Amino acid sequence: MNIRVGLGHDTHRLIPGGPLRIGGIEIPFEHHLAGHSDADVLLHAITDALLGACCLGDIGQMFPNTDSANKGRDSAEMLHLAWQQANLAGWQLINLDCVVLAERPKLAPYREAIAKRIAEILRVDSTRIGLKGKTGEQVGSVGEGKVIQAMCTCLLSQT
Ligand code: MG
Repeated sequence: MNIRVGLGHDTHRLIPGGPLRIGGIEIPFEHHLAGHSDADVLLHAITDALLGACCLGDIGQMFPNTDSANKGRDSAEMLHLAWQQANLAGWQLINLDCVVLAERPKLAPYREAIAKRIAEILRVDSTRIGLKGKTGEQVGSVGEGKVIQAMCTCLLSQT
């Protein structure tokens, strides 16, 4: 059995006006993330981790921000399409582990809903999805509430 690890990271700026879209769900908040697509920072990090693990490039190559078709695009759809490519190459998910770095809002109340949504997009059991929220301790761009960042590692197997 072939096993591969993948790593993804993403950053998006916060701008006024809610709701906030993270992990494929909408969270009530007074700011949202800016970006060419729907700016779902967590789904972008997951997409890059999965693509990286099977050497299929990255989210920017697959969905260029110079393509108007990707403007305001649903990141769940991009993740689904990227994962389809990985599946076609025979890759299956062992697990994902993610960290969302946000000073606010607290992610804890939404953890279960986000993990469930990610599992739904990838068509896997939600027990394969790990998710943690961390703050920036009021320091740096995360801590000052200017950005939200996400990191993801994944383990894939190819039979
Ligand atoms: Mg992004």
